[in-house]
Amino acid sequence: MIKTKIALHWLILIGMGAGILFGLLAVMAGWHDFTTDWIKPWGTIFIKLLKLIAVPLIIVSLINGISNLNDVSKLSRIGLKTISLYLLTTVIAITVGLMVVNITQPGKLLPEEKSREFQEKYAANVAATDQTITDEGPLQFITDIVPDNIFLAMTENTSMLQVIFFSILFGISMILIPTEKTRPVKVFFESLNEIVLQMIHLIMWIAPYGVFALIASITVEVAGDQIADTAALFGSLGLYALTVVIGLLLLVFVIYPLIISLLTVIGFKQFIKGLSPAQLLAFSTSSSAATLPMTMQCCEENLGVKKEVSSFVLPLGATINMDGTSLYQAVAAVFLAQIYGMDLSLMQQLTIVLTATLASIGSAAVPGAGMIMLVIVLGAVGIPTEGIALIFAVDRPLDMLRTVVNITGDASIACAVAHTENKLDETLIIENKEYF
Ligand code: ASP
Repeated sequence: MIKTKIALHWLILIGMGAGILFGLLAVMAGWHDFTTDWIKPWGTIFIKLLKLIAVPLIIVSLINGISNLNDVSKLSRIGLKTISLYLLTTVIAITVGLMVVNITQPGKLLPEEKSREFQEKYAANVAATDQTITDEGPLQFITDIVPDNIFLAMTENTSMLQVIFFSILFGISMILIPTEKTRPVKVFFESLNEIVLQMIHLIMWIAPYGVFALIASITVEVAGDQIADTAALFGSLGLYALTVVIGLLLLVFVIYPLIISLLTVIGFKQFIKGLSPAQLLAFSTSSSAATLPMTMQCCEENLGVKKEVSSFVLPLGATINMDGTSLYQAVAAVFLAQIYGMDLSLMQQLTIVLTATLASIGSAAVPGAGMIMLVIVLGAVGIPTEGIALIFAVDRPLDMLRTVVNITGDASIACAVAHTENKLDETLIIENKEYF
C-alpha cells in the first residue's frame, strides 16, 4: 500500500464525501458549467490513467503469473476451477435476483401514463442502445475471444478477452519450452511487472482527487435531471432500485461470506477491510476494468493471494464474472415484464438465467455496459426493448453499486482459488498487519 499516514481507503472516502458535498453545493449555487468545465476533466483524466494501465497490466501479470506456474496441468486445473466458480456465482446471483423481484413485484406499481411518458422521453437513448447490439450466431462470443491481430486487440479497451487469450497462449508456450530458452523473456517480464506495478502506485496517489472529481460531476448531473424523474416515479422505480439493492446486499452479506468461510481462512471482516479501497474505487468509476489494478493490489497485499493466482483469476473475472450485473439484468427483465403485464413462465425465467449469464459474461467492464447487454435478455424472453427507457433514470447509481459487487465477487473467488491451491499467504492477510 502507498505509504501515507491515513490509509488509502479513508482518503478515497474523504474524496467521495467531499465530492458529494461539492456537487450538492454546485447544484444549489448553479455551478453546473463550472463543474463540467473545471472539475469533471480531472475525473476523466483519472479514469483514462486507470484504463491506460489496464492492457499492460493484464499482459504482463498474466504472462508472469502463468509462466511461474511451471506446469500446464496446474494451469488447467486452476482455470477450470476459476471458470466453474465464476459460473456458479453468476447463476446464484441471478437466482437471488429472480427471487427478490418476484417477491417485491416493483413493476406492478407503475401507473400507465408514467410508463408512456418515460418511454417517449428516453426513446432516443434506447435507439442508440439497440444499435450497439448486432445480431450474430450463437457462437459469435467464442469467435470474438480469438484475436486475429494482437496489436489491434491491444488498442481496444473493449477487446480485453482477446488480450487475455493471447497472454494465456504466450504464457503456456513459455511453460512448454525448456527454462534456459525462455529465461531472458522471463526476466524481461518480471522486470516489466515491477515497472507496471510502480506505475499503478503512482496513479493511485491521485485516486482521492480523481474520485472527488468523478463524484462531484456525477452528483451535479444526476441531481440536475434524473433525481426529479426518480422522485416522480418513486413508487415503482424506487421499489425496483431497492429490489436490485436488496439482491446485491444479499450477495455481499450472505453468499460471499459463505464462500469466504467455506473456501478460505480469511475472516469476512478482514476480507471487506482488505478489499475496501478497490470497492470504493469501483463505486466511483463504475468500471471493473478501471478498478482492476486496485483489485489486484488489494488481493495480493491485503488478502495474501499469490500473484500466480491473482494475475490469472482477477483479469479474467473483471471481464467475464459480473455477479452484480447479472443480478441486475434479471431484476430489470422481470420488472419490465411486470410493467408490460407479462406473466413469466418458469421456462421464461430459466431463459433469463441462461441469457443473463451470457449477457453478463459479454458485458464490457465499463460504465453502463450491463444495461446495453440487457437488450439481449429482454429479446430472448420477448419483452419489448423500449422498456429500457423506464430504467435509464436510475441506472447510474445502480451501476456504481453493481460494479462494487462485480469486483467483490471476483476477489472472493480469487481468495477461494488461492486457498484451495495453497497459494494464500496468511501472514499478509490484513488483520495481521497494522492497517486501520
Ligand atoms: N459497470 C459494470 C462493470 O464495469 C458493468 C455494468 O454492469 O454496467 O463492472
